[in-house]
Amino acid sequence: MPVDKERYQGIVKEINAAGVQLVAVSKTKPVEDIKALYDLGQQDFGENYVQELSEKAAQLPADIRWHFIGHLQTNKVKYIASFVHLIQVVDSWKLLQEIDKQAAKNKRVIDCLLQVYIAREETKFGLDEKELDEITTRLSNSPLPNIKVKGLMGMASFVQNSDVIKNEFHYLKTLFDKYAGLLSDGSKNPILSMGMSSDYKIAIEEGSNMVRIGSLIFGER
Ligand SMILES: *Cc1c(COP(=O)(O)O)cnc(C)c1O
Repeated sequence: MPVDKERYQGIVKEINAAGVQLVAVSKTKPVEDIKALYDLGQQDFGENYVQELSEKAAQLPADIRWHFIGHLQTNKVKYIASFVHLIQVVDSWKLLQEIDKQAAKNKRVIDCLLQVYIAREETKFGLDEKELDEITTRLSNSPLPNIKVKGLMGMASFVQNSDVIKNEFHYLKTLFDKYAGLLSDGSKNPILSMGMSSDYKIAIEEGSNMVRIGSLIFGER
């Protein structure tokens, strides 16, 4: 299925008006679809799998900003460290240390978000509030020179009930307000990445400044 250009442009207009950044989630979609969206001006793309991301990045323009949004295993960081723009899924100190190490090898600083667990489903990944507190304390005591934690990311429950989703996003926003200033990037434009195709409007109402939208733009997977 080709990219829905009109829908894409409509979403861009809507979220730009709200001052929100769009990450177009292209997992499982072919490079041709990504290139079509890139040609419309989209530069930020999200991918979930290390191998798929590496293969696609090699075939596409070098100025695409690749966001890693899938579960990231420590031993795979090395494959994306030379080019990834923002790793949105940091859920442990161990992973943060590995990103720092691989970033240093590539002589760069890699921007990261801490993923927070806000949903009901046990299958989702992320830090709980206590772990978030521990990791931010650890960061301020022993900063890692080759990473920058720019903010938080979270996924709401996959449910129809919009009150549940709203409450989960609201909770993440309170954590963001509490911790954003403590993160290693200080208070410079911290990122709150929340909202997908089905719930991005609620997320923006609750204070998101980055949404990750896939199927609404690229069609169902
Ligand atoms: C796949 C995915 C998205 C996009 O989902 P859509 O429902 O297709 O918009 C957003 N965020 C994460 C973390 C994802 O894995």
